[in-house]
Amino acid sequence: MDAPVFQNAPLIDPFARTIDYLRVSVTDRCDFRCVYCMSEHMTFLPKRDLLTLEELDRLCTAFVDLGVKKLRITGGEPLVRRNIMWFFDQMGRHLASGALEELTLTTNGSQLARHAQALADAGVRRVNVSLDTLDPEKFATVTRWGKLDAVLRGIEAAKKAGMAIKINAVAIKDFNDSEIHHMIEWAGAEDLDLTFIEVMPMGEMEEQERLGQYWPLTEVRTKIAERWTITESNHKTGGPARYFDVAETGRRLGFITPLTHNFCESCNRVRLTCTGMLYLCLGQDHSADLRAPMRASDDPAVLEAAIRHAITLKPKGHDFDYSRQGVKGQVKARHMSVTGG
Ligand code: SAM
Ligand code: SF4
Repeated sequence: MDAPVFQNAPLIDPFARTIDYLRVSVTDRCDFRCVYCMSEHMTFLPKRDLLTLEELDRLCTAFVDLGVKKLRITGGEPLVRRNIMWFFDQMGRHLASGALEELTLTTNGSQLARHAQALADAGVRRVNVSLDTLDPEKFATVTRWGKLDAVLRGIEAAKKAGMAIKINAVAIKDFNDSEIHHMIEWAGAEDLDLTFIEVMPMGEMEEQERLGQYWPLTEVRTKIAERWTITESNHKTGGPARYFDVAETGRRLGFITPLTHNFCESCNRVRLTCTGMLYLCLGQDHSADLRAPMRASDDPAVLEAAIRHAITLKPKGHDFDYSRQGVKGQVKARHMSVTGG
């Protein structure tokens, strides 16, 4: 008889949800300064606070041993972390053993052209690229520091390396609303899936408020349906996305509305920051420090106990609600670049 892939009981939270999806932020740094995500002058964490790549390997491996099947690497911008390919290669060994089913990343695409082949070689089959506009000037405005052509070259390279690509676009009122149809057309022609994300009340909101950015996805959908034939698809990820098929392009279209509660009961994910804090819910502050127990002991049992205890803290759901709280939301102190979205 084959040995089981992991020896330990899986991670199950107090609401009987199996936790098998870990999102890992490997850095808080980024080569962009997107207006809804960061301020222009960011103070980043001192290096000593960051988990080393070896520590990230140890922690992620512990989660895989406890039944995590899907790892998504994010940031900050994951591909700006020095030597990050070593870490992807390490995670690739869990794919090779069969313990891990999927290794993916979310990236701004700026460094993708030079890393795409190595990512594919490590076993990455799918990548999410964040791209809010196809207009070079608007792209420079929303990212402050980004260059559109570098991202488009990155997408090409990832395609060439055989990876499936999903574009994530934050829907921003009076900014990319005029481009929605063009983006669907472009994604169809380039064989890319496309998902629109509603702006979330993360971090300080001054910039966002200045742009008056909130554009409810219900309105985005209405606008899309004026031109495209979209039918709800049964594709499910356990997350906040709802998917539709676009008849004219044959591609999938997603909508991520993190501010609704309707996905919490199927939530299978937790988020690890680059300092080793485990966040149990994107919309709540429940968290546990895994760095201290990991640094205090080499004993895998100590780390396992810390992870199991953390999972007991996972709340039932989150409290985001624009209508109740104005646009302020509750998790103002935490930028998306900390938990990686
Ligand atoms: N740097 C990578 C990137 O941009 O894809 C990974 C990290 S980024 C924090 C992950 C995702 O969060 C991106 O798709 C970004 O657009 C999204 N994001 C950041 N701040 C957001 C906000 N306030 N509301 C909605 N989405 C946000
Ligand atoms: Fe960087 Fe991604 Fe945040 Fe933009 S959304 S500033 S690319 S971490």
